[in-house]
Amino acid sequence: RAKRSATQRHAVFDTTMHDAAMRRLQLEGDLPRALRARELRLVYQPIVNLPTSRVEGVEALLRWTHPVLGEVRPEEFIRVAEETGLIVPLGEWVLQEACTQVRVWQREFADCCLDLHVNVSARQFYQPGLVETLARVLQDSGCDPERLNLEITESAIMQHDAISADILTHLRRLGARVQIDDFGTGYSSLASLHRFPIDALKIDRSFVARLGRDTTSSSIVQTVVTLARALGIGAVAEGVETSEQRTHLVRLGCHLAQGFLFSHPLPPQEITSILRRGAYLAPHGPTA
Ligand code: C2E
Ligand code: MG
Ligand code: MG
Ligand code: MG
Repeated sequence: RAKRSATQRHAVFDTTMHDAAMRRLQLEGDLPRALRARELRLVYQPIVNLPTSRVEGVEALLRWTHPVLGEVRPEEFIRVAEETGLIVPLGEWVLQEACTQVRVWQREFADCCLDLHVNVSARQFYQPGLVETLARVLQDSGCDPERLNLEITESAIMQHDAISADILTHLRRLGARVQIDDFGTGYSSLASLHRFPIDALKIDRSFVARLGRDTTSSSIVQTVVTLARALGIGAVAEGVETSEQRTHLVRLGCHLAQGFLFSHPLPPQEITSILRRGAYLAPHGPTA
């Protein structure tokens, strides 16, 4: 009997492994077509100035609605795109699409001074053509490079820290800004951070989520804000979901934030409506 249940467990394990492998194969096979078939789209999450409640920027985030599987989470398909190399054309599409869209907003709502944030994954970051691609996209879209923030994770930058300082320098020479995404989850040392030409640290949402629940997370956020100030750069909080977290952030001196408290990532036309209403986005609780 024990033997039998062990066999059953084994069978269940096999099935799960098999399903995961099949799904992965399907995503890998379908992703190149998805880009051509317009199954991929961008949504934009507002980044809010806490003291003024005004939208100062938007982060472009990819969405994929698969014809059979439905919504596929970005973490899942971005990993596939990374591993297959498809992230390079995909990332270029994201840059082009987002810069073109934001240029429209910047023209129509010039007084908003809207910034654009685009995620750049590790493989894309170390791809030799990145700087040329970015130069071309900036040229084609007419997007002001100083309003473009490239978000690169701490772990991506640290993969080859000697090379990344060089890449960052080239990107910034085009006028673009660089922010370290998911800061606090990687292993950058103070010494290396100091060497990188970066413009801001994005505090990982795992720390923000625990704000007010334990003193350690408050100290961590405080430390990141202090560190950013010492380096003369900005700090942005991710994943703000409650007004309590918002209050803590203001008290700790972090004045820029994004999260469900203000807005979920939205399709472009909804961002247009927000901008039309003066770009104010008061905290209104989850899913308002
Ligand atoms: P990220 O760059 O750290 O983006 C922030 C993620 O946090 C987004 O998840 C966003 O929807 C989510 N988020 C924002 N506010 C809240 C909140 O209050 N609570 C919670 N629980 N989550 C919040 P999303 O859109 O699922 O994207 C996940 C990750 O996938 C991104 O993390 C980024 O690393 C990657 N990604 C998404 N779009 C792109 C892209 O165009 N290119 C690349 N290379 N990576 C992308
Ligand atoms: Mg990001
Ligand atoms: Mg992040
Ligand atoms: Mg993240």
